[in-house]
Amino acid sequence: MKLRPLFSLLLPILGFGSALANPWSEVLAPSDGPPRVIGETSAGCLDGAAVLPAEGEGYVVMHLERRRYFGHPSLIEAIRTLGEEAAGGLGVLHVGDLSLPRGGPMPNGHRSHQSGIDADIWFDLSPTLHVHADRWRSNVPAPSLLRSASGGLDYRLWSDRQVRILKAAASLPEVDRIFVNAHIKRELCETVRGARGWLRKIRPWYYHEDHFHMRLVCPADSPLCVRQEAVPPGDGCDASLDWWLRQHPPPVPRPSEPRPLLPAACRELLARR
Ligand SMILES: [Zn+2]
Repeated sequence: MKLRPLFSLLLPILGFGSALANPWSEVLAPSDGPPRVIGETSAGCLDGAAVLPAEGEGYVVMHLERRRYFGHPSLIEAIRTLGEEAAGGLGVLHVGDLSLPRGGPMPNGHRSHQSGIDADIWFDLSPTLHVHADRWRSNVPAPSLLRSASGGLDYRLWSDRQVRILKAAASLPEVDRIFVNAHIKRELCETVRGARGWLRKIRPWYYHEDHFHMRLVCPADSPLCVRQEAVPPGDGCDASLDWWLRQHPPPVPRPSEPRPLLPAACRELLARR
């Protein structure tokens, strides 16, 4: 999940100041242990991270300068699988943040993405004619799928291609849930015909109008991984979605509790050479 710039500016005021200077972004390389997801997505880290190459079949990684292209091998594999799906006629996946080389809190932009099982992927699948220069990757903005005034979907940008990539992602057994803007969830609720079981994994959440956030289940090799509470049964096209849609202006995350403490295994991981 990505927090808006204004909210980022408020972070120090809201008591998250210590998160802005953290050692996790100073570590440049993954640890060399076997892959292990440790803790929660919002208070965790990642041992033995795999790297997502800067581009591959059907995908390109954005913002290389952030060095957030590390993840558990199952996350890298899931993105590669979706890239192949995209290459089969949908376009090109623009992959945003995964995790830092050893996971952990990021200096800005996210609360989650700490344990190597979260990835942001743009809704925009436009094949690009650009050479994938670092400057382009760092500067081209992700287009929002919402019309700014009413908050409804911009149908110049929304198409069956987005439905197909979301369905492909939600159908991967290792994917636990996918966060999207509530208007996007509503569109799926109203238009998807036939098998709708995959809609269950598509969850309304703050923002997420220009990218979706894919979260995996805890991998089998990671006993210290703490799984989020299960997604409720049903397709989610219900009162819980109505709550999101009733909020005007759109809700923003509450600057709630301070960040949970990292597990001890993460402090050990950070200290390891
Ligand atoms: Zn995200």
